[in-house]
Amino acid sequence: MPTDLRLPTHSIVRPDKDRFLNEDNPFEAMMSRFDRAAELLDLEPGLYKILRHPEKQLTVSMPVQMDNGEVEVFTGFRVLYNTSRGPAKGGIRFDLQVSLEEVTALAAWMTWKCAVVNLPFGGAKGGVICDPLTMSVGELERLTRRYTANIIKTLGPDSDVPAPDVNTNERVMAWVMDTYSMHVGHTVTGVVTGKPVEMGGSLGRREATGRGVMLVTKEALAHLGMPVAGTTVAVQGFGNVGSVAASLLAREGCRIVAIGDRSGSYHNEHGIDVEAAVAHVRRHRSLDGFEGAETISSEELLTADVDVLVPAALENVITTKNAAKIRARIIAEGANGPTTAAADSLLDDKGIFVVPDILANAGGVTVSYFEWVQDRAGYFWPEDVVNDRLREIMTRSFADVLDLSRERKVNMRTAAYMLAISRVASVHRLRGIYA
Ligand code: NAD
Repeated sequence: MPTDLRLPTHSIVRPDKDRFLNEDNPFEAMMSRFDRAAELLDLEPGLYKILRHPEKQLTVSMPVQMDNGEVEVFTGFRVLYNTSRGPAKGGIRFDLQVSLEEVTALAAWMTWKCAVVNLPFGGAKGGVICDPLTMSVGELERLTRRYTANIIKTLGPDSDVPAPDVNTNERVMAWVMDTYSMHVGHTVTGVVTGKPVEMGGSLGRREATGRGVMLVTKEALAHLGMPVAGTTVAVQGFGNVGSVAASLLAREGCRIVAIGDRSGSYHNEHGIDVEAAVAHVRRHRSLDGFEGAETISSEELLTADVDVLVPAALENVITTKNAAKIRARIIAEGANGPTTAAADSLLDDKGIFVVPDILANAGGVTVSYFEWVQDRAGYFWPEDVVNDRLREIMTRSFADVLDLSRERKVNMRTAAYMLAISRVASVHRLRGIYA
């Protein structure tokens, strides 16, 4: 009888489970879905162990001379979770909540996200424990440069390519790129993505995540036989992802009936003038005081009577407490981790079609990939080429996940994880284990 290499179900319990806080933790939610997909894939125990461990975790200390003359020492991390499919890709965040566990989980998340849209990248994440809001530009620049120098051995266009994340931006990426280039002795634009366009950034990057959300929403509508024109939409979060998704969906003919941000939520049955809302946020930095809609609570926004709900703000907003009240037919997850794992089955019971975060918001990393390709080729694409290629990848990935979900009779989230894990696992099988 051949040896049964499948993993016994009882052993799919992570030894480090307790370290991942509680069930509402988005990283816990992600890893529990990983376990479910691994089980359905009958993943060999050896591969399961490999994919449950980060490849490399760096912890670094950065002494920084502060503006008052004193020296502070900051702690930072860079985790390369899996690089079997290509260079590691993942953002750098500056935040007081950063921890090695969080960075590791986010790096795993990036591994699955890159694999689900079939980019030739692995997954990584970086973070520095600091409060950037209390630091001067000079202090932030010195911290960024010293952090870059401390992780320089992992960085490189062929090995590890950071991008902006929470509290980092184009300017921080420019410092990372400059520091790296100074160390290697020549300009290397392809070492980071999310750079300013004039120094190797890509056209279309800013809108890419919201554009991806719009594209998968249209695919979901087509799959369910629902017309795009007149589709009603509620969008939570009106920042980079939410405002772009809302404007592009409105341009496609959808009626955006509810939007919301940190300042509040707004509803207009006849359709919100999204461009006016964008202009309001540009002037006032939030939707506070926006006219042309009534104020509602954020819970009312999430449970509004709409065809499509786009959570594009925070994690853990769709939970066991409100999932049964959600009336949308489609949820397109613009944010990372907006739905808790426990809420998944409630949404399934209601027949809600969920386009999961690792697919729905992968437009951003896809155009980061385009930026890296353009930097390496030294040849830059017009915006319509970027947008066309993004559409190609998002629609193909949606179809790949949908096909698997039908074949295996699982929801789109489980199918997305299964597809991602099977792609990473298959490369491990082909490459074998280096002795
Ligand atoms: P952003 O900072 O530009 O916007 C966040 C928005 O959420 C703001 O409008 C803010 O007011 C709103 N918000 C914050 N707290 C809220 C609350 N309690 N209730 C309602 N709204 C609230 O951020 P972003 O870049 O648009 O990212 C949004 C989400 O998308 C995050 O989960 C992020 O990780 C994810 N994401 C972003 C990208 C990207 O390319 N920007 C890519 C993938 C995933």
